[in-house]
Amino acid sequence: MASSSITVALAGNPNSGKTTIFNNLTGMRQHVGNYPGVTVEKRSGNISYKGYDIEIIDLPGIYSLTAFSEEEIVARNYILRDKPDVIINIVDSSNLERNLYLTVQLLELGFPMVLDFNMADIAKKKGVKLDKGLLSELLGPPIIETVGSKGKGIDKLLDSAIKVSKETKHKKIDIPYGDEIENELRKIMTALKAPWIPEDRMIRRWTAVKLMEQDSEVTARLRDEGSGDLEKVLEIVSSSIDHIKNIMRVQPEVLIADARYGFIKGALQEAYEEADTENVDITEKVDTILTNRFLGIPIFALIIWLMFQFVFTLGKYPMQWIELGFEKLSILLNSLINHDLLRSLIVDGIIGGVGGVIIFTPNIALLFFAIALLEDSGYMARAAFVMDRVMHRIGLHGKSFIPLIIGFGCTVPAYMGSRILENKKDRLITMHINTFCSCGARLPVYILLAGTFFPAYAGNVIFSIYLIGIIFAIIMAKVLRITRFRGELEPFVMELPPYRVPTMKGILIHTWERAWMYVKKAGTIILAISVIMWFLFTFPMIGEEEYSQDYLMQLEALEQSYETGEITEIKYQDQVAAIEAEMAAEKLEFSAAGRMGKFIEPVFRPLGFDWRMVVASISGVAAKEVIVSSFGTLFSIGGADETSEGLQDKLRDNYHPLVGYNFMLFTLLYFPCMASMAVFRREAGTKEMLFQMGYTLLLAWAVAFIVYQIGRLFI
Ligand code: GDP
Ligand code: MG
Repeated sequence: MASSSITVALAGNPNSGKTTIFNNLTGMRQHVGNYPGVTVEKRSGNISYKGYDIEIIDLPGIYSLTAFSEEEIVARNYILRDKPDVIINIVDSSNLERNLYLTVQLLELGFPMVLDFNMADIAKKKGVKLDKGLLSELLGPPIIETVGSKGKGIDKLLDSAIKVSKETKHKKIDIPYGDEIENELRKIMTALKAPWIPEDRMIRRWTAVKLMEQDSEVTARLRDEGSGDLEKVLEIVSSSIDHIKNIMRVQPEVLIADARYGFIKGALQEAYEEADTENVDITEKVDTILTNRFLGIPIFALIIWLMFQFVFTLGKYPMQWIELGFEKLSILLNSLINHDLLRSLIVDGIIGGVGGVIIFTPNIALLFFAIALLEDSGYMARAAFVMDRVMHRIGLHGKSFIPLIIGFGCTVPAYMGSRILENKKDRLITMHINTFCSCGARLPVYILLAGTFFPAYAGNVIFSIYLIGIIFAIIMAKVLRITRFRGELEPFVMELPPYRVPTMKGILIHTWERAWMYVKKAGTIILAISVIMWFLFTFPMIGEEEYSQDYLMQLEALEQSYETGEITEIKYQDQVAAIEAEMAAEKLEFSAAGRMGKFIEPVFRPLGFDWRMVVASISGVAAKEVIVSSFGTLFSIGGADETSEGLQDKLRDNYHPLVGYNFMLFTLLYFPCMASMAVFRREAGTKEMLFQMGYTLLLAWAVAFIVYQIGRLFI
């Protein structure tokens, strides 16, 4: 039997339970691949069922069939080109009105279809009354109720899909667009005859509707595929559009969307009744406050502020314990390992590097805990809703706001948090600008430099750096949107799910998974980079005779004067420390990192930087706060932190305040630490990570260049 193999495509809104149904259907025997030419993932699985070989394709989750996003184009092109035998449209039946917007557009394509009314349990709980038979009659396809999360109704769904794929006649429905539009559609359809769409009236009508909606992707495809007079068709389309605009005073696409909603409303009016339970009312009441035009944003700001308080106040304690643990470990290893180099590698290189990353784990875990809490309770959707209007102005989604906020704490969880953006372009833009939300590790650098060069206005200076970061985030979001990630912003249909009491188990699992991923990174790639950094900063080693001053003799002389009682113990120790710091500075200058700094110094001269600043910036790749201790070493101040007066004096002696400010800008703008880049790579691939590193470095250089060159004219 030749027809025993069937292709089934799953289409539906995000969150309708598509993945759940897919897993139910395929028993997770899935194959993940990419759609040709695009980066949207495609999942497919093959099963045998009642003698049929069924291939199931999971199309990307979409709200509409416009050309607003790659996902939508992929989904509709798959249907138009590969012509699946049957489409299963998965619908969240507890949210029918909104979900059916995609359904009517799928209906317009005229393909064999089954409607899967998923989430039937929730609909039931809501007290929804549905006349399935009548609605199926009104819309066309059979309706099967399922509960994906419990695997209920899956067999019926498959049976129905097989049945529909075998039928030769399907009920085809034209959404009525009103006389004015219908007249124009007819004209366009006539012009659209061969060579484009020879046989299928439904597809011809669909194409005509898309042309009226000014869908550029459809126009482009007609141009590619046809050999007829497309210009003539487009002329008719444009006069149709003008005609509609003239008499109706709106764009045809608005009328078309209205007609679709009207069709849905009409169908539901007849076959569907929503019970007025109190639950819904409470949610609505709470929402009138939380999503209020005026109160929404202040409330959101307050909740985010509370979240940060929670994370950083509570996180302080485990952080101190971990720090203490690593200190003890270092002391222990220091006494256990006799070999100087090996000790330095393990204590300074590995424990220093990996420990510096591990130490943030409690903060990250707490942050994820807080986010999971906000997500699962239903508040996050409100926050995105509230921020959406603001974020749209800069070409982003309301949801992007969440990772950006997290970025002010730490960029690593921010990159991971970008996953809440379903659309790939939105996600990548959000990740690429996240670095400008200055993370916590940069703050010590600002405190050091602002305190050194602008002691009277340190607070304002630091604030200006944060502000400049935000401005660059906005600018780059715009720039990326019109260059690398071109495309219009998908219209934002933010569903507001009912508030729920989150389950502790769910939240803990979420938190654990994300935090563990972070720790795993520290144990692998960060370990490797720490070792490399250690080598760079340690080798080649300076020989005793190569020190520029005879430190060893000075040390010997000091020891003698101490033993003869000429100087006190305190003074002796001070002077020894001073000499050792000088030696450390020379060691560093002699090392590969020091040489690299000197070698590339000319590139940074036009920014006002010297080789020490270059070396400090290189060390900042390990983690930005390391810049402070690097400055300490470079200027022979042992154990310096951001408030060391000795270090501040040295910096003031060596750099003009303009250079100090410029260095802060540079630190703000170039990509964050290696831990974050490792996460970036996992989330977005090597190419995007390299782009992130490349473009932020170039930007940091260019901005610092301009500031220094202009500033120089005034000093
Ligand atoms: P997708 O975005 O369409 O792929 O949706 P998912 O399959 O990821 O489902 C979203 C959420 O809805 C998950 O937490 C599922 O467990 C849950 N879910 C899926 N189907 C049902 C259902 O029929 N009833 C209920 N109560 N939850 C469901
Ligand atoms: Mg999914």
